[in-house]
Amino acid sequence: MNILLLGSGGREHALAWKMAQSPACTKLYIAPGNAGTPAYGENVHLSVSDFEGIKAFCIDKKIDLLLPGSEEPLVLGVFDFFANDPALQHIPVIGPSQSGARLEGSKAFAKEFMLRHNIPTAAYREFSEANFEEGLAYLSEHSLPIVLKADGLALGKGVVISSLHEEAIAEYTEMIKSAKFGDASKKVVVEQFLTGIELSVFALSDGKNYVLLPSAKDYKRIGEGDTGLNTGGMGAISPVPFADAAFMKKVEDRVVRPTVAGLAAEGIVYQGFIFFGLINVEGEPFVIEYNCRMGDPETEVVMPRLQNDLLELFSAVKGQNLDKVTVSEDPRAAATVMLVSGGYPEAYEKGKEITGIPAPTADQIVFQAGTKADGGKTLTNGGRVLAVTSLASDLQQALAHSKETAESISFGGKYYRRDIGYEFR
Ligand code: AMP
Repeated sequence: MNILLLGSGGREHALAWKMAQSPACTKLYIAPGNAGTPAYGENVHLSVSDFEGIKAFCIDKKIDLLLPGSEEPLVLGVFDFFANDPALQHIPVIGPSQSGARLEGSKAFAKEFMLRHNIPTAAYREFSEANFEEGLAYLSEHSLPIVLKADGLALGKGVVISSLHEEAIAEYTEMIKSAKFGDASKKVVVEQFLTGIELSVFALSDGKNYVLLPSAKDYKRIGEGDTGLNTGGMGAISPVPFADAAFMKKVEDRVVRPTVAGLAAEGIVYQGFIFFGLINVEGEPFVIEYNCRMGDPETEVVMPRLQNDLLELFSAVKGQNLDKVTVSEDPRAAATVMLVSGGYPEAYEKGKEITGIPAPTADQIVFQAGTKADGGKTLTNGGRVLAVTSLASDLQQALAHSKETAESISFGGKYYRRDIGYEFR
């Protein structure tokens, strides 16, 4: 199989690493990739949203499978672009159709979908220019804290949680009246605040059946103890200690199965990953958000624990026979610690030389994210630079091993959180 993977993060490095292990992988291309991905395939200068460029490349290189890593091409409709083009329709795209990608691309759509299918989620109201004044009155009476969500994609910044009415009202006004997030905040979801502990659950759906992948928990804030600004993710662990069989049964019965069945019942084509951002409220799962692709850095702990051949899973997606597949998980715990550029998630410098990245072993791999090759050197090229993943018989040992390696890698301004997995010590 010739495969084209779209993306350049740690997630894509982990997906490339995993797919390259499959005997079915003839040739892997990564567009645009990073300094780590050439170990498993060939980097290609193509933008993930350049569908015409992707088309020409797929025809030229006889691509047999397209895997978009991030939401961007999916929300822009890459699945439909392939499905509707006679020259491309034979190439399966692992992901949802554009209408399925609305689960991530529109918070209002996701909330309405959950309501229609009785999937547990926080109570909410939706506001826009048309009912702006009503929203003001609603907010002034709302219990604190208040959760405001821009409807559309806003680079992970569209959710604001405020513990002051005036602040929430100012934010709401800025979102709708001053287009704080452009068109993405023309509509705003105001939602009940849920208290609990979050986790990420991943399913792969063929449109009828699904399999669950290992669960994970990520750490979004820049500072230790979950303080400071939100980031793309500073680390992750898998499995999630509290996601035991009883809890996961609730997740499947109340969330995963109704989602897959609901999509099918509404005629929404969805043949790819579904990421359920969940919160455990006193033992009961609620959906915080859906994403239409794998998470980053969760992929960096999920793929190393997944024992199945990923390309076999994708073939079962294409054949709609995932019901015949059993997923097996490495019993070891995995932990990833993200090394970031000093200053991130605000302004930071790029182009710092990275040294000390160890070669992969059976129990550790350093996935690259914001890196680029420069002659024989590897330079920093983004906020999140490297994800150090370790596997061990327990979480503490995996974390200790990742931290040891995080310490031994050098680049100017390097920062990482030393407390990933802190709740489970
Ligand atoms: P989202 O982009 O929807 O994942 O939201 C970003 C973060 O905001 C989530 O990871 C949660 O930590 C938090 N969050 C979102 N919705 C809620 C809610 N209803 N209650 C509590 N926290 C929330």
